[in-house]
Amino acid sequence: MSLDEKLRKVLEKARDSSGLIVFLTGAGVSAESGIPTFRGEEGYWTQGSQVYRPEELARWSTLASDPELVWPWYLYRRSICRGADPNPAHKALACIEDALEDRFALITQNVDGLHLRAGNTLQRTWQIHGNIDYMRCSRACNPQLFAMPDIRGVGPGSSFDHAWKAQLSCPMCGSWARPHVLWFDESYDEENYRYHSSRQAAFDACLLIVAGTSGATNLPNMVAEICLSRGTPIIDINPQDNPFTSMARRSEGGWLQAPATEGLKWIEDALSG
Ligand code: NAD
Ligand code: ZN
Repeated sequence: MSLDEKLRKVLEKARDSSGLIVFLTGAGVSAESGIPTFRGEEGYWTQGSQVYRPEELARWSTLASDPELVWPWYLYRRSICRGADPNPAHKALACIEDALEDRFALITQNVDGLHLRAGNTLQRTWQIHGNIDYMRCSRACNPQLFAMPDIRGVGPGSSFDHAWKAQLSCPMCGSWARPHVLWFDESYDEENYRYHSSRQAAFDACLLIVAGTSGATNLPNMVAEICLSRGTPIIDINPQDNPFTSMARRSEGGWLQAPATEGLKWIEDALSG
């Protein structure tokens, strides 16, 4: 399989223009690096006899009431992310940024840092749900990000070890630290999550390419809606039909039904041809 003629023309038109090409990525792009998406059983966390869904753990209110439940899950997820390597989809995006420079913007929901490790720059990569390599003060006593401590050996269902407490505290005020990620009961902002930059990119885009996301979250949905309302073509790369597929079909673009590793390689070839 490869790109169809219609999508190739859309890509060539964008390549030959002077417009901004915006990429929007989700957990599917890192699935082929071995990082589970939130769908399915791999997203669940069992502690004692309780089974938790990500939507229950990734909440400010859960950290506030039970930090010792939330932290082992994050330390485990972070160890999976640190153990994973960028895959050909991440590498294709780094090559595309090299080629497009200021005509490139990457909005990612992934917190695994793999886009940066593949070579995308922080200047043009907006981690709208944060980055699990960092933490910050849960009381926001200061805006600094601190490196997440390298605590190893945390496996599925591990319980909290009190020896970790000092490393998981704000060095300024001693309150609990929190992972630098956006939680389900929190809102986007510019400072931590590049909300305005992402919206502006949607207004400026001449093409939006979505890869590996099911569109369950607010800002990604908004980015695609803005593009759709402005007549900007949308290409959705995903093996499965999802809400972005229908938006892509309603635009001048369309659905590229493929895994991200294949789809983004084709996009790289078309944009550099
Ligand atoms: P999601 O789990 O809701 O959806 C994943 C999407 O990826 C699905 O549409 C699926 O069909 C698609 N997919 C699966 N394998 C693919 C592949 N090989 N190539 C292309 N697409 C593939 O993920 P989401 O929409 O990104 O949102 C979940 C939320 O969970 C986000 O807020 C994100 O921050 C967080 N999350 C992040 C990571 C990570 O950082 N890697 C992992 C899990 C969840
Ligand atoms: Zn503090």
